[in-house]
Amino acid sequence: MKIANNELKRFSKQIILKNIGLSGQKKIFASKVLIIGIGGLGCPLALYLANSGVGNMGIVDHDKIELTNLNRQILFTAKDLGKYKVDQARKVIKNISKKIKITSYRKAITKKNINSILKNYDIICDGTDNFKSRYLINDYCVRKKKILISAAISKFDGHIFKFNFKKKTPCFRCFMPQIPENQYNCDTEGIVSTLAGIMGTMQANEVIKSIINSKSDLSGKMIIFNSLSLDFRKVKLSRNINCINECKK
Ligand SMILES: [Zn+2]
Repeated sequence: MKIANNELKRFSKQIILKNIGLSGQKKIFASKVLIIGIGGLGCPLALYLANSGVGNMGIVDHDKIELTNLNRQILFTAKDLGKYKVDQARKVIKNISKKIKITSYRKAITKKNINSILKNYDIICDGTDNFKSRYLINDYCVRKKKILISAAISKFDGHIFKFNFKKKTPCFRCFMPQIPENQYNCDTEGIVSTLAGIMGTMQANEVIKSIINSKSDLSGKMIIFNSLSLDFRKVKLSRNINCINECKK
């Protein structure tokens, strides 16, 4: 891969890092990352990935921009109300760099379309707001041996998980086999905008580390963060013998 001089300069602050270097930056240029949900998590995630030089990006969302989104969905402004999120996100990302190949999917992920969308990407980022989608995406990533980086936010609390299904690892269902009775999400519970920024940026951080094969990553673990107490807790997940994805085998 030949890199133009202006690209070398643009990404020079990353390239001089020992852990990235020119070879790491080339991997970032060649990476294929899918963002499911262009909401509070997906907005900062897409921005940081675009600015880091991720070369191929897919974005999935079926929603339109609403006024209540604007405290945390930083790709959008009051001028964008009523537009589809993926359309506006695509415009902003293209403005960052014309070189990014971005494909937008103006739809929700379903059993029917999941393969045709996710098969084109190596790293899948889940920022959806419901358990049905989370399970669907998790189970697909297990079967197809993808890397899944998943985050969830509510009120002042955030969670982030990473699973590399190329290796033996627990999955999201091992941790949460069933949909909890109280399905909290930021629509019903409220959300502090900065938490969305922190957790979406942490997702981007894990994506970049996955691309450059950083050894110190979050595989098979979760981070629980509370933005009031500023407590970060890292929890190792274990494989559940009863998991329907047969993670114990
Ligand atoms: Zn499992």
